[in-house]
Amino acid sequence: MLLCPVRNCHMALVREERRLLCARGHSFDVARSGYINLLQPQERRSKQPGDTAAALVARRRLHDRGATAPLLHAIAEVLAASPGDIVLDAGCGEGFYLGTLAGQTGFRAHGVDISVPAIDAAARRYSECEWIVANADRFVPYADHSFSIILSITARMNSSEFRRVLRNDGRLLVAVPAPDDLIELRGTGRDRVVRTVETFAREFKLVDERRVTSAADLDAAAVHDVSLLIYRPMGSQPAEAMRVTFSLDLLLFRAA
Ligand SMILES: [Zn+2]
Repeated sequence: MLLCPVRNCHMALVREERRLLCARGHSFDVARSGYINLLQPQERRSKQPGDTAAALVARRRLHDRGATAPLLHAIAEVLAASPGDIVLDAGCGEGFYLGTLAGQTGFRAHGVDISVPAIDAAARRYSECEWIVANADRFVPYADHSFSIILSITARMNSSEFRRVLRNDGRLLVAVPAPDDLIELRGTGRDRVVRTVETFAREFKLVDERRVTSAADLDAAAVHDVSLLIYRPMGSQPAEAMRVTFSLDLLLFRAA
């Protein structure tokens, strides 16, 4: 099901012990923690976007203390996945949503992200899922119609590639930060719903939309973690305990 990411190749990758090979001899390593790195040499050299190491740890701590549990619950409800589903999380980060949902539901789970540290963290914690480092902005490295569900949770979006790897009867769940997400620290944000629906309009139609909002009482350390996530370090000013809003717009699409 995995395809070679080399431009103009895209042949099937076959696993051979600790690496994957295509018929043209392009080769990709399986890391010790179990993930597969499909970045090409020029992509490995360039500076990659994604969380810093500190933001990665901060994000995981916030998930682990339950600050995002209501968001997870709402995503699970909208998704209504079953054990027979095959799910791709494109831009999965450290894997919290996909790994937790896979553990609850038992579906087959595949996570892709461009960040090596994030995928390494995902592979170490959620070893039952498949984790891939790849640049999904360019090419989602899977065969056509591989998935019954695709997730994009506060991540980059690639409408034509999502459509290609999604089954015709599949569904796509896109979560974007709502205007009041982290409003106490970030101020009011943009409403991203209209633009997101437009981004997917050629290949998908919107079938469900809901906003999930919750507030968590965070101690000073957790507030500091949130400040790392939004790249707004508090400088010399110490973080103080406060109630922080977590809010997502959940958009469910089907193929148009
Ligand atoms: Zn190849």
